[in-house]
Amino acid sequence: MSKRGKNTASAVSIFNIDDLSTWQKYRKGLCDTCHATCCTLPVEVTVSDLVRMSLVDEFEAEGDLKAIAKRLQKARIIDNFNHKTAIFTLARMANDDCLYLDSKTRRCTIYHQRPETCRNHPQIGPKANHCPYRPRE
Ligand code: SF4
Repeated sequence: MSKRGKNTASAVSIFNIDDLSTWQKYRKGLCDTCHATCCTLPVEVTVSDLVRMSLVDEFEAEGDLKAIAKRLQKARIIDNFNHKTAIFTLARMANDDCLYLDSKTRRCTIYHQRPETCRNHPQIGPKANHCPYRPRE
């Protein structure tokens, strides 16, 4: 079960994604056994990310961002758009998984096109260099 806010018992600690004190210090190889819990967090993206993800073309990206947001909200690809910061937030599945996360393999299906936020995690994030690590079941 991967619902946000639910506690998950582990040998070491009680994990709760919303409690940063339960996040683990990132180390190489940690992702290999992880449930990809980081891919259940809200992902903020720019229009450049949307171009790389092939959701917006270069021409459209130079136009009205609100119109892009409206189109992508209707398609349920983004949840919201902050016009002051020009940041879009990607939509998630009912269980909080990112739309681009494979539910079985727990791998990103657009890895080479993934947003900067994902590329920079966990160096940049709610708790720098720490992960919401939870082992796969
Ligand atoms: S785009 Fe890929 S790496 Fe980023 S949160 Fe979604 S599944 Fe994870």
